[in-house]
Amino acid sequence: MSLPKVDKIWMDGTLVDWDKAQVHVLTHALHYGSGVFEGIRCYETADGPAVFRLTEHMERFDRSARMLLMELGCSVDEMVEAVKETVRVNGLASCYIRPVAFRGYGVMGLDPLPCPVQVVVAVWPWGTYLGEDALTHGVAVGVSSWRQRSVNANPPAIKATANYLNSSLARIEANKHGYEEAILLNEDGKVCEGTGENIFIIKDGVVCTPPVSDGILEGITRDSLMTIARDLGYEVVERSMVRTELYTADEMFMCGTAAEVAPIRSVDGRSLGDAGPVTLELQKAFFEIVQGRNSDYEDWLERV
Ligand code: PMP
Repeated sequence: MSLPKVDKIWMDGTLVDWDKAQVHVLTHALHYGSGVFEGIRCYETADGPAVFRLTEHMERFDRSARMLLMELGCSVDEMVEAVKETVRVNGLASCYIRPVAFRGYGVMGLDPLPCPVQVVVAVWPWGTYLGEDALTHGVAVGVSSWRQRSVNANPPAIKATANYLNSSLARIEANKHGYEEAILLNEDGKVCEGTGENIFIIKDGVVCTPPVSDGILEGITRDSLMTIARDLGYEVVERSMVRTELYTADEMFMCGTAAEVAPIRSVDGRSLGDAGPVTLELQKAFFEIVQGRNSDYEDWLERV
């Protein structure tokens, strides 16, 4: 994806020109992956741009930073304001939002604590992450030969930049094998997640998703869809699942801020058919909510 430029990027408390938002080549994070980030979407609604669950995203950002003993130097509320200001100043009706905090320039070596922390918020227009057809025709996925990181090594619960080396390895492999996305299993063979998405299967009318304890990022889209599914009357369970359950699921989909709600049409070349009725119902409800067409979930929309 080549980045569509916008006007301004928020950097350490001030708005700077897109082209001037730069760092030194000896920035710690460039060498050691010492950063945390978020991915958030702002949707166009009849009442103007609305950021989906912005506060929850910034709370996760704050938790990721705290787990790495990274002082952000600003509160969750201040980060929420910074995001709103960045969306506003760039005049975008809808966009993707990327807050990132990282260890900057000044010290080298593996103890990051003496390094200064920099905080940035960038926004840009970003369409369907998994390709134009993903939301309607679904994606073909392959189980990766790379394993999910264990909860005791590059913990999946931290949205750390370093964690995405593994995701990139899996994504490269999947694409080279002709799949659109990968699914990662942990070392015990339990199904975890996509490279940047959580996953759900539907079996006998029950909506199932892997538990946090198997090693996943606790996705905000995942949480939203569990709530939506329960509100629609479905039984929702968080439970471990193994690879073969993916082959025999009635329906399956992946979800995340970038990917939104994408049906899965095949796993390892085993067809699951067209998007199923439960997936379509959840997808429709999700888009109604994020686009401000369901006032029951108004709390999830934060106006800029
Ligand atoms: N898992 C991983 C590894 C991710 O990178 C993401 C995207 N942030 C998700 C799951 C989905 O999380 P969310 O719904 O909060 O975007």
